[in-house]
Amino acid sequence: MENKIKAYDNILALVGNTPLVRLNRITQEFTGSFYAKVEAFNPGHSAKDRIALHIIEEAERKGLLSEGSTVIETTSGNTGFSIAMASIIKGYECILAVSSKSSKDKIDILRSMGAQVYVCPAHVSADDPRSYYEVAKRLHRETPGSIYINQYFNELNIEAHYRSTGPEIWEQTGGQITHLVACSGTGGTISGTARYLKEQNPNIRVIGVDAYGSVLKKYHETGKLDPNEIYPYRIEGLGKNLIPGATDFNIIDEYIKVTDAESAHMARNISKTEGIFVGYTSGAVVQALKQLDALGAFAPDSKVVAIFPDHGSRYMSKIYSDEWMRDQGFLESAKEVRPQEVQYVK
Ligand code: PMP
Repeated sequence: MENKIKAYDNILALVGNTPLVRLNRITQEFTGSFYAKVEAFNPGHSAKDRIALHIIEEAERKGLLSEGSTVIETTSGNTGFSIAMASIIKGYECILAVSSKSSKDKIDILRSMGAQVYVCPAHVSADDPRSYYEVAKRLHRETPGSIYINQYFNELNIEAHYRSTGPEIWEQTGGQITHLVACSGTGGTISGTARYLKEQNPNIRVIGVDAYGSVLKKYHETGKLDPNEIYPYRIEGLGKNLIPGATDFNIIDEYIKVTDAESAHMARNISKTEGIFVGYTSGAVVQALKQLDALGAFAPDSKVVAIFPDHGSRYMSKIYSDEWMRDQGFLESAKEVRPQEVQYVK
């Protein structure tokens, strides 16, 4: 009878193979067809499950991890959750250095998953000893037998998406995808996915979504890190104040920047119109689609795939809180500057 039980061995068996869902209303005014790769279907509710599992299993193959070893990382939350989840199943300790910009929900969730969490100031430079990068490096030096995932500079971050997200999208679109639009944080998602897709069809156009306050777009255009581009912004997980080694800038055709307020409203509108409860950066991606459409980027036969990186439940005290939105001045900005945003809400 036992072979009739249809159960997965453990939760990690469910990582990847996320659905592609047609967008029906939020993009109805745009030219072309639009599809979302909904990464919240991963068991850890984000695309980061893919890299956590791939990097940890590569370390196991190299003999770097054994029962009781410690896995260390810097994370805005999602990667931390995925590492904590994998560590539980595989029997490792998990230490995470997170930015103070991360939502309280995210930090509480990490602690609930058994991780030791160090909260580090967000608005210090990357080489400041208090930054979450430097704190993680120090903890790695001080913890014997530990590995440091180092998602911003780890080629395996790209490889995880090259091996999974890219082939899945190619297969799910029957090879018809014409544009890939994805957020760029570490750059692993967009670089790995695009590398695979462009190997299949070099004409696929790849567009990275960046934040105002981040250096990525300008670096892509000029090859220079301009410190004047750096200032605080609210979107978590998108854009950067350094040049991540896990971004293959050559494979990205262009970057587009989006604002905190418009991305927040767009995330709320996606939830209300498509019934997909999305995180902040999914709003950023659809805001980018809107701007690209206005620039005439798409044709009637375009098949555009947008990656929705995570789930809305992690942002209850942020974009899904009217109070938080009001405190940021985002509710006023919607009324005064962008009243047309509201038209999608039924
Ligand atoms: N969205 C969210 C919510 C994230 O946490 C991240 C990762 N920083 C991204 C988008 C961007 O993904 P990547 O790091 O692969 O560029």
